[in-house]
Amino acid sequence: MTNGVDARMHGALTLLRRSPERTGVVTDFDGTLAVLVDDPAEARPLPGSVNLLGRLVPRYGLVGVVSGRPVSFLADHLRVPGLWISGLYGLEVMVDGEIAEVAEAAPWRQVVGAALVEAAGALPGLLVEDKGLSMTVHFRTAPGREHDARAWAERMASKSGLVVREAKASVELHPPVVADKGSVIEAKVHAHGGLDTICFLGDDRGDLPAFGALARLRDNGMQVVRVGVATPETPDALLAQADVAVDGPEGALAFLMALLV
Ligand SMILES: [Mg+2]
Repeated sequence: MTNGVDARMHGALTLLRRSPERTGVVTDFDGTLAVLVDDPAEARPLPGSVNLLGRLVPRYGLVGVVSGRPVSFLADHLRVPGLWISGLYGLEVMVDGEIAEVAEAAPWRQVVGAALVEAAGALPGLLVEDKGLSMTVHFRTAPGREHDARAWAERMASKSGLVVREAKASVELHPPVVADKGSVIEAKVHAHGGLDTICFLGDDRGDLPAFGALARLRDNGMQVVRVGVATPETPDALLAQADVAVDGPEGALAFLMALLV
């Protein structure tokens, strides 16, 4: 017997498969295409996922990965011709194999560089990640240091003009530029011009703006599917807004695989 959850999933997949050339398939990376790991440099897409994206690209109108990671990292690990890649929560995008950045963000590279130097001295023992236009202080392996990391980020933000952004088991400093996963997806959909349906798969707070963007696109007449990827760290707020939920990156991969049926 089909229960409500199965019926919702069936409805979502049917909707997305209906006219693939007019459908966008966009996903987050960490916790969605890749299992969460302690050292972010060690994260890799799940086996089979690169091949799967490569099969989705020719069939769907848009296939993309939108992440908080630098585009350079994503492009290294997702070598898929035709895949749209956006990094640093919309501050960077891959265009024709070249990394382009939001112009207003560029002058902040130096400010981020100075903050990185200070972080190295002020936060011994914490992993500080240089993302070029932004930076991340990770406390996944040192949960007792979360307060230190957050307090330092707030101080640095108030003196530098950078803004604090919440992320999974980490805190980030970004240029004060209005860009997030939602704004970059909306801009891409409008620039594409030929999509009437879109799904986004996300697992974290940083994906809430993308879910918000899909809600606005739906208000403007698009068909949308927000896929919540449940991990032990996924915030309830994200799952509450999801149209369907899948279980971890394996579930996300199975969902994407089902789009090829
Ligand atoms: Mg994620």
